[in-house]
Amino acid sequence: MASKNTITKEMFDNEVRSYISKSDSLTMIEKAYQYATEKHAHQFRKSGEPYFIHSLNVAYILAQLKVGPKTICAGLLHDCIEDCGITLEDLIREFDSEVATIVDSVSKIKNLKFDDEKEYLASNHRKIFIAMAKDIRVILVKLVDRLHNMRTLEYQSVEKQVKISKETLEVYAPIAHRLGISEIKNELEDLCFMYLDRDMYKEITALVEKKKNEREARIQQTIKEIGDLLAQNNIKFRIFGRSKHFYSIYKKMTQKNKRFEEILDLQAIRIVTESELNCYEVLGYIHANYRPIPGRLKDYIAVPKVNMYQSLHTTIVGTDGDIYEIQIRTESMDDIAEQGIAAHWRYKEGKNYNAKIEQKEIEERLSWFRDMSVMTEDMSDNNAREYMDVLQKDLFEANVYVMTPKGRVIDLPNGATPIDFAYRIHTDVGHSTIGALVNGSIVPLNTPLKTGDVVQIRTNKNNPTPSEDWLKIVKTNHAKNKIRSFFLKKEQDRRSEYVGKGEQLLKEELIKHKLDEAQYLEKEKLESVYGSFSVTNYQDLMYAIATKGLSAQAVVEKLSNKRNIFDLTRLFSNPNKKPKKPESNVGVKVPGIDSMMLSLANCCSPIPGDEIVGYVTKGAGVKVHRKDCPNVLHERTRLIDVYWDELSLDTKKFESKLMVFGNDRSYLLSDLITMVAQCQAGLVAVDSKVDNDTLTAITSLTITVNDSEHLRNVIANLRKVNSVTSVERVAS
Ligand code: MN
Repeated sequence: MASKNTITKEMFDNEVRSYISKSDSLTMIEKAYQYATEKHAHQFRKSGEPYFIHSLNVAYILAQLKVGPKTICAGLLHDCIEDCGITLEDLIREFDSEVATIVDSVSKIKNLKFDDEKEYLASNHRKIFIAMAKDIRVILVKLVDRLHNMRTLEYQSVEKQVKISKETLEVYAPIAHRLGISEIKNELEDLCFMYLDRDMYKEITALVEKKKNEREARIQQTIKEIGDLLAQNNIKFRIFGRSKHFYSIYKKMTQKNKRFEEILDLQAIRIVTESELNCYEVLGYIHANYRPIPGRLKDYIAVPKVNMYQSLHTTIVGTDGDIYEIQIRTESMDDIAEQGIAAHWRYKEGKNYNAKIEQKEIEERLSWFRDMSVMTEDMSDNNAREYMDVLQKDLFEANVYVMTPKGRVIDLPNGATPIDFAYRIHTDVGHSTIGALVNGSIVPLNTPLKTGDVVQIRTNKNNPTPSEDWLKIVKTNHAKNKIRSFFLKKEQDRRSEYVGKGEQLLKEELIKHKLDEAQYLEKEKLESVYGSFSVTNYQDLMYAIATKGLSAQAVVEKLSNKRNIFDLTRLFSNPNKKPKKPESNVGVKVPGIDSMMLSLANCCSPIPGDEIVGYVTKGAGVKVHRKDCPNVLHERTRLIDVYWDELSLDTKKFESKLMVFGNDRSYLLSDLITMVAQCQAGLVAVDSKVDNDTLTAITSLTITVNDSEHLRNVIANLRKVNSVTSVERVAS
């Protein structure tokens, strides 16, 4: 890309005219040029240059990328709304709504703040992605804007240099990478590297320079050798050496903990040839004449990277004993390798341009982009931090590439499982997953996927039920969030069912007392009694009635003001209506907290010996969970320390839920129950079913035990029962 700050109107015009010749397009660009010059007149940058120089540079770089005329106009105008008091309406009137909308969206992506306000930061990132998911041109303009700002960053304060560089490295360089625009990505990374770690930057650039001089003659010799070899075989080609960019060397040194001297492939040799077939031919000649290093051959032609990159890579030992990485590709692959999306969707005059169609094509071609659009829609209600976590981890850190049976490439982070894959395909596929085939073989759902795996998901669409255990094995935040919200929704459904039941009971009670429903169920009337029953809202009141914690009769009496000496005792007087857990009998204590407010969580059913933690609920006291319970694992603010109350434990029994998996056989169930009894555990509930596909019997047992040691003993003995394959403690 052109160097900084020296762009003239003439250079810009030449660049534009190299691929745009329609007069209405040129007129519009000229108008935008004049408009922006006028609006930015009397404004100056920190460098002392007229402000408009920046706008012109941005438009010039965009023209080098050969974007459409409207995008060039948007580049010229990109700072007008923000800096010149121009409005969206002004731009619509002067130009058109497309140009205006791009400029408006670019303006809305403000510089991000880099301090403690993580949430603020995240919500800003999110804005960028939402704008980008809607229209790729917005991000192109923004990227190029950032590139020029980075090129001229020397005029800013050191503090600002660091701030902007960090943000660029964290947000913009990954976007450029994802869009395949490696030219811009590499330049951004090297500039950031320079501002963020000047000493290291100097050291590495000096080392590279020195090494290059040392090796230059030898690499030229190898290039000549390979060139002769190809020429003898009548292949048309270009061949040249390419240095790695500094930041990638730095990353290799820090991430792989290598010394500079240990990085062997500082320079790659690139061969650009005519056809795909030529690429494989070239590879054949090279492997026939040089010793390839095993495991380094990569065929990105057959399986392109998710950012569309295509090339053959191999590493060989040269006749001089040096190691060389060889990249082999066609001209168009080389274009896409350098400019990615910009190369692929280069503006072509005469072809009817339609932004919507282009956006759709991009989504089809860049599968991650479509995934991102889907996630952006899906997660519009979630908080910004979560959204960014998903993008950062699931998309930017992805480096395992697997395929659907139809050949669609899906990228996932390291360690991702078939469940992550299933949720990436579709939320419904995720929820209804019952098994997975990798490369044709059935595998356990926690199998880590490897690049090149072909993954097929088996589903049961009739009864989509994810397992909460999946939370422990999935790697992507996307899958995690989907599983969690499934259970959250289930819990909400269950609760609203109870609320409805509570309403029903209360109405029946009112009728029994010949009281007018409408009058007594009025909001204010009800609110006046919340305090008497330690609830804070309507839902909690109805829930308490439905779950028998509270009698409808007591509520009706309170509502009708029948002061009754039995009022209080009646609350819990009916044997059917007493609360599940009598106070102080939970077996857990918290210094300074009334034990009545404590109860054991039903989801994970903690038992003595488990590590536990208290979750402060809204209105239902403190729920005691296992520390590893998925429901509290990511909770930060509502947790308190709680302890088992050793003194009260002696005679108490605790409920625990187990899942027993085994090959189905006669008497399996009765053997399991006998074993529970032999272990002196109580049996509360049993449920058993057989998966007819795999002939696996799945038995869920709810038992009572003294403590975790007792439970371990029961589990160990159940595992010994003939044909049992696994026993798991459930947290659901
Ligand atoms: Mn700008």
